[in-house]
Amino acid sequence: MSLFETTPSVNTLTKAESLSMTNAPLLEIRNLRKNYQTPAGVIEALRGVNLKLYPAEFVAVVGKSGAGKSTLINLITGIDTITQGEIYFRGEAVHSLSDEQKTQWRGKNLGVVFQFFQLLPTLNLIENIKIAMDLQHFLSPLERYERALELLDLVGIKEHANKIPAKISGGQQQRVAIARALANDPPLIVADEPTGNLDSRTAAEIFDLFSALTKQGKTIMMVTHDRGIEKWAYRIIEISDGMVYEK
Ligand code: ADP
Repeated sequence: MSLFETTPSVNTLTKAESLSMTNAPLLEIRNLRKNYQTPAGVIEALRGVNLKLYPAEFVAVVGKSGAGKSTLINLITGIDTITQGEIYFRGEAVHSLSDEQKTQWRGKNLGVVFQFFQLLPTLNLIENIKIAMDLQHFLSPLERYERALELLDLVGIKEHANKIPAKISGGQQQRVAIARALANDPPLIVADEPTGNLDSRTAAEIFDLFSALTKQGKTIMMVTHDRGIEKWAYRIIEISDGMVYEK
């Protein structure tokens, strides 16, 4: 077979394939499986997921309820433990790290955004962001304060910096949560239905913000139920019955 015959035309490549021609993956998942033992038997929540995320991608994860979306996010973030499979980050085998090394790896490389924001209610917005840097010993205390303010500015709510979360809207709280996810300057942001609790106009603002972050080099992986996400996300993957499909 000639080289010409084995090289697919650019138009026939999926987005993931065309990205793989120019980039090394940031995150690579190989044959990821998650079983839950329940009184009713074993639930195979993920049944051999293979996935590569590339630098500066905005990837939306879609699929029906119970398909395995949150499980995938929870295995990446370490909220849950993997049954079988491998996770590589910039080629490093994350699955082989000790628990302590995994915690360090996540603190440095992963920002997480949740549906219900999960801000600390008694701390003001600056402190909510600063605490993420305190935990990682990132920068000096004064620099942490300045960076927290810069991040609040970046997400457009610097003027509320000294308020507690209850004094701002849900959309604004999610902006703070995104600023917190960015605190230690991780290359990868993972978000599980970050707009699930927001109206559609506010959701669009959050997607705009994520989109702007990918232009600065961040990789975003976001579970969403929002229709019309293709307006923002470059790549959409569907999870169905514990398997991943490129759309
Ligand atoms: P999605 O996020 O797509 O709605 P999930 O990842 O939450 O789906 O769930 C995938 C499957 O795993 C479902 O059948 C769900 O009931 C099951 N599951 C999720 N978490 C648990 C758990 N902690 N214990 C038992 N089963 C679970």
